[in-house]
Order: sequence, then C-alpha cells, then structure tokens
Amino acid sequence: MKDNYGRNIDYLRISITDRCNLRCGYCMPKGIRLAPMHDILTYEEIELICKAAVKAGITKFKITGGEPLVRLGCPELVGKIRSIPGVSQVTLTTNGVLLGKYLDELMENGLDAVNISLDTLDRETFRKITGCDDADKVKESIRLAVEKKLPVKINTVLQKGINDHEWESLAELAKEAPVDVRFIEMMPIGYGKQCEMVSGDDIRQKLKELFPNMEEDHSVHGNGPAIYYKIPGFRGSIGFINAIHGKFCDQCNRIRLTASGEFKPCLCYGEHVDVKQMIRDMADESEEEKIAQIEKIIVEAIQRKPQNHCFESREEITEDRQMVQIGG
Ligand code: SAM
Ligand code: SF4
Repeated sequence: MKDNYGRNIDYLRISITDRCNLRCGYCMPKGIRLAPMHDILTYEEIELICKAAVKAGITKFKITGGEPLVRLGCPELVGKIRSIPGVSQVTLTTNGVLLGKYLDELMENGLDAVNISLDTLDRETFRKITGCDDADKVKESIRLAVEKKLPVKINTVLQKGINDHEWESLAELAKEAPVDVRFIEMMPIGYGKQCEMVSGDDIRQKLKELFPNMEEDHSVHGNGPAIYYKIPGFRGSIGFINAIHGKFCDQCNRIRLTASGEFKPCLCYGEHVDVKQMIRDMADESEEEKIAQIEKIIVEAIQRKPQNHCFESREEITEDRQMVQIGG
C-alpha cells in the first residue's frame, strides 16, 4: 500500500532473534540487554503477521536478526512464509557463519537470495571486528552459496583505521564470483554513533580512479536503496548504500518488525507499533479475525512512516537501541 508520501510499501524486514553468534562492536556492544525469550515472537505469530502483511500489500520479506540462523527452525519458517499466496520473495541476511550448515535446507524451502555480511578478508581483522575466529566459515559459505547458484550479495561496513584499506580487495570479490558487493555507510544507530564511518562516495571515487570504465548499472538488483556500478571484467556489481551521504528516503519501500513484536516505521526513530500483545490477547479468536486485526496495525505503521530519517542531525535521532535489537 502507499504511505502518506506516495511511497509503495511492499517490503517487510523481520528480525527473528536479537541473539547472535558474533559480537560486531558497532551492532552488539558489550553489556547489551537482550529480550527475555517469552517476549520473542513465536514462529506461529510471525507466520500470522506475514499473512496479514500480504493483505496490506507486502509481497517481499527479509529474515534478519540478530543472527537469524542461530534460531532453530529458520529454514522451515522461510518455507512457511514462501508458501503464503501473494508472497513473491523471501530472502535472508546472515553473517554466514552457519549458512554452510543450513544452505541446502534454506534452498529446499524456497529461499530466493541471501545477503552475507563480511567486513574484512583478513582473519585477524575479522576477530577484531566480530570477536570471533570465523572468517574462514563465512568465506566458505559464500563459496557454497555461489556454487549452488543462490543469488548472493555481500554487505560490507567500512570503519576508518580498521578495515577501510580493504575496499579494493573486498570489491574484487565481485570480480572472482557473480556476487554483488555492497558498501554500507555506518549508520548512527546504537554504538554505530561512536564509530568512524567511511563515505560511500569516497570509495566510489577510489574505484573509479582504479577502474575508469566503471559505469552505473541501472538493472534491478533487489529491494534495497543501493546504487550499483559495473566494472568491465567483474562478474558481479558494486553497490553503495549511502544512508548518510545519499539520502534515499523518497524511495523507502519498507517497514521493520523487531524480534519482540514491534513494527518500526523508520530505523531512525524509536516510534513503534506493538503487535505482540495484541496477538496474545486474541488467543481465542479465529485466525481470520487475528489476521484482520494485525493488518490494521500494519496499515497504522505504514501510515506513521515519516518522510525522512534524520541521521544528519543526531540530536533528532530517537532510536536508542542497538542494531542487533532492531534488526538491521
Ligand atoms: N547477523 C546478520 C548479519 O550480520 O548480516 C543480520 C543482522 S545485521 C544487524 C544486518 C546488517 O546490519 C549487517 O550487514 C551489519 O553489518 C549491518 N549493521 C549493523 N549495525 C550497523 C550500523 N550501525 N550501520 C550500518 N550497518 C549496520
Ligand atoms: Fe551479529 Fe550481524 Fe550484528 Fe554482527 S552485524 S553482531 S553478525 S547481528
């Protein structure tokens, strides 16, 4: 459905857990308080929400977290959502550590594509960023997903002085394999506020100097706001999600659902519409009635979408949770 600014909202990002097997400092800093398990939506609740979301005009779903693959049963959930009439796409965002283990099951359940986060190719830097020694597992997951012909996007967040010198080697992953490599600007959410971000435009310029024939790629690559470029000889494209330096709110097509059942109209603001309590209060109602009521909540969340985020004026940001708690 259209929101109040004429944008077609057809994409829902669902966080299925706020737990994670990595500890990326900008997303899940030390001392963070996670939601008690009884506050986390059950898969049955998520499935009901997806059915209602389709009625409200959502056709594309992204499963995220936390790390979605640490929650048992994730592939089956993908299958359940994928089989709802009206759903055109179910994709997953993962850190890749467990992807090798679940890849076949995910694909058997109809997963359409995967985004794998990888900020560095260097084992020591990986350990520094994530607190874990799993770089090789992530690389192997990428290799396997490509081999099995699942569309792959690699998400990279660069930080000054930590991994920003790796822009070229990370971009070259798209030379070796048919994957899109996307540079995501660090957003001032949670601990991300304290990290020194790298401008996507700076990386684009450096790549242009190195590959003067790099050209904008206008073909459709997915649901997101990334702007893509093609480099001759590269099998995949290079994308930029410049949330700070290239505001794309006029094209925003999404709402978010947190693991504890809150619809978030915009990443930047704390405002949300709770759906969990309403579903639990309706335990004795029919499925049709529950879906009808959830749909109303989704419509309300869409209508509450603000025109713009306010990342450029930090004092206006009202979201004070960490990305792992929201679902990036
Ligand atoms: N665990 C999964 C993963 O790492 O892909 C899914 C959840 S994670 C929150 C999704 C994406 O959000 C990751 O690519 C991560 O790098 C990104 N992210 C986390 N905090 C961010 C921030 N402050 N700004 C920009 N991207 C961020
Ligand atoms: Fe976990 Fe993903 Fe956040 Fe890293 S970015 S801590 S892998 S949720």
